[in-house]
Amino acid sequence: MARVFSGIQPSGELHIGNYLGAVQNWVRLQDQHECIFSVVDLHAITQPYEPQELAQRTQDMAVGLLAAGIDPARTVLFVQSHVAEHTELSWILTTVTPLGELERQTQYKDKAQRQESVPAGLLSYPVLQAADVLVYQAGLVPVGEDQLQHLELMREIARRWNARYGNGFFPEPQPLLTGAKRVLGLDGHAKMSKSLGNTIGLLESPEAIWAKLRPAATDPARKTRKDPGNPEVCNVFTIHQGFSPPPVQAHVAQQCRTAGWGCLDCKRVLADHMIAALTPLRERAAQLQANPSGVRALLREGAERARAIARRTMIEVRRRMGFLEPTERGGD
Ligand code: ATP
Ligand code: MG
Repeated sequence: MARVFSGIQPSGELHIGNYLGAVQNWVRLQDQHECIFSVVDLHAITQPYEPQELAQRTQDMAVGLLAAGIDPARTVLFVQSHVAEHTELSWILTTVTPLGELERQTQYKDKAQRQESVPAGLLSYPVLQAADVLVYQAGLVPVGEDQLQHLELMREIARRWNARYGNGFFPEPQPLLTGAKRVLGLDGHAKMSKSLGNTIGLLESPEAIWAKLRPAATDPARKTRKDPGNPEVCNVFTIHQGFSPPPVQAHVAQQCRTAGWGCLDCKRVLADHMIAALTPLRERAAQLQANPSGVRALLREGAERARAIARRTMIEVRRRMGFLEPTERGGD
């Protein structure tokens, strides 16, 4: 049974792209695998952020994941910065990571473009991500399509470290995608992203969901109510595939192709299905928010379980790399 690891940044609100592309898969995988999921705050500081908001955002992200169905009785859920081994292994892995590969990463190029001064941490982001996964010797990584390039580099990093020190010590992690591996933002251009503000939050009220969905971009071929569209290129249809039952999806697709419905009709049906699916999550989140110290206790326990695994990995990593072991006081 392969171990599963994945993470999400507390860089903004948990949105339906994160949910359909990754988190929904995390919830399912808990039935079949040993799973470790993390709120990766050390990744989130590679983008501009407000220090006084980070702790609350981290807590909110944990609440969102728990509300979405992450079950701490079966799964390890923790905050990345609570397990220092991630940063230690990350440094070690920078020494086997080809710089040219880091510079080629699309996410780096996109995010660097949006910053006036580019921090080195943004460039080495995929190395920390490799450390996140490899410190648990995880073999499966459920992510959205935007992370495939990082996963490929992660395998390269694992291979290089193994070739020099490890002989198969680190598995080469494989990605796991969902049907909605790339949800576009409400603008219909860029992918839905916490940092782009083109999202629908997973825990938003029915009114807010409708207010955001109503003006969302659809197939540009539908200029007027009478122009037929193609659901395959419509982002609203991608979201239907995540929330509406298959017979509704088939009906919506047919109404779009024949211009039987206008886009607003299609969106109203989607909003109803989204609201029905997300209401129980919003209610669970409200209960968790009312008990912040309970959530903190769960995260503490998660970090303890994660640390126990990560420590064992690091002892072996240091041994294989030839570091001098520290001695205890009083020993020789
Ligand atoms: P940021 O803009 O800060 O990078 P993000 O919305 O991209 O935030 P991440 O924390 O980087 O979210 O990613 C969390 C998980 O969600 C990853 O597995 C990622 O692949 C997935 N994901 C993010 N956006 C989408 C999307 N639009 N469609 C499908 N999956 C997505
Ligand atoms: Mg991202």
